[in-house]
Amino acid sequence: TLSISTTVKFLMIFFFSSRIAMQTYNTDVDSTLSELSLDGEFDFHNVSHAAKDFGNRFQFQPFVVLTPKTISDISATIKHVYQMGQSSSLTVAARGHGHSLQGQAQAPGGIVIQMESLQQQEIYVHSGRLSSYVDVSAGELWINVLLESLKHGLAPKSWTDYLHLTVGGTLSNAGISGQAFKHGPQISNVHQLEIVTGKGEVVTCSPGENVDLFYGALGGLGQFGIITKARIALEPAPQMVRWTRVLYSDFTAFTQDQEMLISAKKTFDYIEGFVIINRTGILNNWRSSFNPQDPVQANHFKSDGKTLFCLEMTKNFNADETDIMNQEVKTLLSQLRYIPSTLFQSEVTYLEFLDRVHVSEVKLRSKGLWEIPHPWLNLLIPKSKIHDFADGVFGNILKDSNNGPILFYPLNKSKWNNKTSAVIPDEEVFYLVAFLSSAPNSSNHDSLDRALEMNEKVLDFCKRADIGMKQYLPYYSSEEEWKAHFGSRWKLFAQRKTFYDPLSILAPGQKIFRRAV
Ligand code: FAD
Repeated sequence: TLSISTTVKFLMIFFFSSRIAMQTYNTDVDSTLSELSLDGEFDFHNVSHAAKDFGNRFQFQPFVVLTPKTISDISATIKHVYQMGQSSSLTVAARGHGHSLQGQAQAPGGIVIQMESLQQQEIYVHSGRLSSYVDVSAGELWINVLLESLKHGLAPKSWTDYLHLTVGGTLSNAGISGQAFKHGPQISNVHQLEIVTGKGEVVTCSPGENVDLFYGALGGLGQFGIITKARIALEPAPQMVRWTRVLYSDFTAFTQDQEMLISAKKTFDYIEGFVIINRTGILNNWRSSFNPQDPVQANHFKSDGKTLFCLEMTKNFNADETDIMNQEVKTLLSQLRYIPSTLFQSEVTYLEFLDRVHVSEVKLRSKGLWEIPHPWLNLLIPKSKIHDFADGVFGNILKDSNNGPILFYPLNKSKWNNKTSAVIPDEEVFYLVAFLSSAPNSSNHDSLDRALEMNEKVLDFCKRADIGMKQYLPYYSSEEEWKAHFGSRWKLFAQRKTFYDPLSILAPGQKIFRRAV
């Protein structure tokens, strides 16, 4: 008993003394940060919003939230933390729109910088004869970049499916959607960046200036600096899109058609696809704002409970080009092998098409189904293994239903610049397979556990079957796993970290490097 009470006493003394030490430490840091002369401000109290993200599974409270007004606010803050050196353990995370899945934009006990507060800076559209671009704050949402560019008849070329994400947030990953086969990911469509490094230096970089930092930051998971501005390539914006969906029950025909379309010279402007496990749900509820002219009832299909595959394409056009567009779409469709009765088409404005997922967001929010856990899993699978993957995953692991869409579409490596930090499989054609599961709290208490278990099984299968998979929006927690993820590129990635962020202050939520203390 003596030893137990002594231990308890010891623990209590340890607990309280460490609390006091922590408080003293925090008060010190607090006062040194408060002394910085900034245009924006620190908030030491109202910080809980910065501990949340779209994934809704990880919540780490920061010590303080910075609402910067200027880039020098960001630079001064990081420089200060850097100069405190190893006497401090503070980390700094840029928070874009907080749509990460596993706490990547959080800084446990550190500083979160609200990048969206830089939005007030003007969006500048340059419309030139040879090239057009837009200069934006990296805290800007893509929807705002689109709206401003459209005023000039222009638009960025490469997108994500959802536009309420920040420029800096998607450029730190890659930014992919159905246009990437044609234009490459968003990181292939950037002319210039302005970055605040982990030492607090403000650096302008491009393919011709500070080249290493430029490519390192693209797809760099926020490790080398905070992107504060970006110059994004623009093209003339179409007025309308013809939006088409067709169904397949034969996986080989589906993938061959997708692959043919992404390599054809004359083809669609956007090509995606998805897997329909629970066909009743998805067919009667087309996800997003797709309202086909001839909607279909699920029971029209005699697919014998088989998994169905939906190919989704769009063709851009202006009002005076309708006939040509019709002809081109007809020719392309005539080369495909979908189930003939399953051709669904719709025409919408370019803006409506690009902002389509927002329509789902509004619906889901109204039902309380947006701010729930999202145990998403995004994988890149090389073409040579896509059949093995499909047999193992759709044939075995995921037979009944999945609580959310499963995106499935091919991309081509030649449109990715291998100097960037983004990691993709080592084959010309590879597929994005995205399991976008939701885990509503109320309906089914174990839906989160089930989805996580399913993810584990899929990851385990990929390992055992030697699929050569790379995670997109990767999530690992040990250095071994990160090394395996980067493969031969790890050395360069780690070197860049030592050079641009030697104390590992930045983006701690990615769990790649540990803060040097
Ligand atoms: P945050 O979650 O705020 O940050 C992400 C990471 O980037 C963090 O580590 C953060 O510290 C870092 N970061 C943020 N801003 C900066 C900056 N300025 N400089 C340096 N580092 C920074 N992705 C696709 O590619 N294609 C899709 O179609 C797609 N659809 C999506 C749909 C939904 C509904 C959601 C929730 C996500 C989707 N994503 C998609 C994933 C999305 O691109 C990433 O999660 C992205 O990081 C989110 O952007 P954010 O602004 O919310 O970033």
